[in-house]
Amino acid sequence: MSSKVILTGDRPTGRLHIGHYVGSLRGRVEIQNAMDYKDMFVFIADAQALTDNFDNPEKVRQNIIEVALDYLSVGLDPNKITIFVQSMIPELTELAFYYMNLVTVARLQRNPTVKSEIQMRGFSKADRAEGKEQGTGSMKQGVVNPVQKQDASEGSSGHGEDNQPVFGSGLPVGFFTYPISQAADITAFKATTVPAGEDQKPMIEQTVEIVRKFNSIYGQTLVEPDILLPSNSACLRLPGTDGKAKMSKSLGNCIYLSESAEEVNKKVMGMYTDPLHISINDPGHIEGNTVFTYLDAFCRQEHFGLYLPEYASLDELKAHYQRGGLGDVKIKKFLGKILNQELEPIRERRKEFEKDIPEVYNMLQKGSRKAREVAASTMDDVRRAMKINYFEDKQLIAEQAERFKQQKH
Ligand code: ATP
Ligand code: MG
Repeated sequence: MSSKVILTGDRPTGRLHIGHYVGSLRGRVEIQNAMDYKDMFVFIADAQALTDNFDNPEKVRQNIIEVALDYLSVGLDPNKITIFVQSMIPELTELAFYYMNLVTVARLQRNPTVKSEIQMRGFSKADRAEGKEQGTGSMKQGVVNPVQKQDASEGSSGHGEDNQPVFGSGLPVGFFTYPISQAADITAFKATTVPAGEDQKPMIEQTVEIVRKFNSIYGQTLVEPDILLPSNSACLRLPGTDGKAKMSKSLGNCIYLSESAEEVNKKVMGMYTDPLHISINDPGHIEGNTVFTYLDAFCRQEHFGLYLPEYASLDELKAHYQRGGLGDVKIKKFLGKILNQELEPIRERRKEFEKDIPEVYNMLQKGSRKAREVAASTMDDVRRAMKINYFEDKQLIAEQAERFKQQKH
């Protein structure tokens, strides 16, 4: 049997979208169904979502059930794996507190994902965390391109585009330190494998460093995880329908898994393609063309026979577009059909699960109970390793008793 322990999570900041699907969900379902694991955990990261939505707890509360329904509808099965809610496991917070000792401020500041997210959320402005700006959860669409920002901030001037320091005085400590809390989530379950999108790479690297430092100081206790990225490069960081940033709940540039066929078609028709491809006969560009990126992520050979028999393959379709003579509408219609074929069974399953919402909460509660047992057992190991298990340590009590007996009064 496989010795892999799989763990992944999603923030309940909105319904899940096709970026989640290709970046992580699809891979999770494959692993689950191949039974290629010893244990598998999938969790709803509500505590993490609160780090940047602390002023909007209702948003997080509403989206827990949405994410749970998305999980069930893509085929994650609570009879095979454990699905739980992060905040129900207090051991995760406890672990994170001890891990904070093992990470420097400078190290956190080097995390490119956190840097770009801070800018995206406007946390670099001094007045941001004081609530002078409204609505953490309601980021305006396309404010910043996190991909570009990430590159821009690599130069390490420590300042953003508006010349505000990235780690300005308005940055909440909770958000700044969320990679540490993520390390706690992963290690509490002794996860070996984390299926996730590319934006999670710096988090896993941070986790590995914490594990190594912990084990070197306190003795071999924690397990080093590995990220499992999608093998298809178009799926590493699926762009939004606007073609700019990564598709992200917080940016509103998403096609949601639960969207109707009409909504999907409408969004596909409005998608960003190649601004230089003005008339059909103009040669078109594939790179940076979101429709082709989505085709790379979703198109399979069978789709040509079904929906576009005049082409033999995606390469042939791309070649025609590059030569000129192939219109955007045609490729968009093709993409719409492919997406709807993939999403239809997901929508249908969702409708079934929506019929019994109390049962979905029940499932989450049961999963959370089981997850808590596992995390508590790791916490016991951690306490023992860190020598903070005073009451369970009979030898310590006996030694102290002896020491005080021998003291002269
Ligand atoms: P938020 O805007 O609140 O951060 P999000 O849309 O980025 O939401 P997360 O919950 O942060 O979603 O991410 C959950 C998982 O989905 C992670 O493994 C992440 O790498 C993956 N993921 C999210 N967006 C994409 C994307 N556009 N392409 C590929 N993977 C993605
Ligand atoms: Mg995210």
